[in-house]
Amino acid sequence: MNVFAVVKENVTARQVAMQYGIKINRSGLACCPFHKDKTPSMKIDKRYYCFGCGDTGDAIDFVAKYFGLAPKEAAMKIASDFGLNYDATNRAPPKKMAPKKTPEQILDEEQKQCFCVLSDYYHLLRKWKTEYAPKSMDEEWHPCFVEALQNISKVEYQLDTLLEKDIPDRASVVSDIGKGVKSIAGRIEEYRRSQGDAGEHRKGRSQENSR
Ligand SMILES: [Zn+2]
Repeated sequence: MNVFAVVKENVTARQVAMQYGIKINRSGLACCPFHKDKTPSMKIDKRYYCFGCGDTGDAIDFVAKYFGLAPKEAAMKIASDFGLNYDATNRAPPKKMAPKKTPEQILDEEQKQCFCVLSDYYHLLRKWKTEYAPKSMDEEWHPCFVEALQNISKVEYQLDTLLEKDIPDRASVVSDIGKGVKSIAGRIEEYRRSQGDAGEHRKGRSQENSR
């Protein structure tokens, strides 16, 4: 129940008037606090009605007028002063947050991402090493062949490192490798596009990135 319902159900105008110091005689009459009242002219029971000024209302109206509060503030004041519990359903419900990832989970993901890119690259390099190998001694080396020679063992080593079960200082290893991985991903993309077979791979990649 909200605060209005709780107060209306549990507290009368008479109770709040007495609570806040209005004297009520045996006939249920009090001097009206809302106009200059010499003789009691306000009838107070479940609701109140003033025969002098015509003011009327329930407990919440009484308190709102008496203390100069908004109806809701008045209801809350009554609930608090009379020890009533209510559901604060008008409060904004707490936003549902996605469970926060632990640093460990984030690191796992980064590591996995590095591994995926590096292993893609590794397979390309191996392919380049044979595909673009010079056919003769005096043929100029294809840049992909050069790249393969330069990088293949380094990438192999990085993959091995990422596969290790207990990498000492895993965070810094992953971050180190991760720095290069972005440009490697770009390099792979560039190559695939130049080969015209990018469509399928790019689709897979953009789905991965859009998460
Ligand atoms: Zn009055």
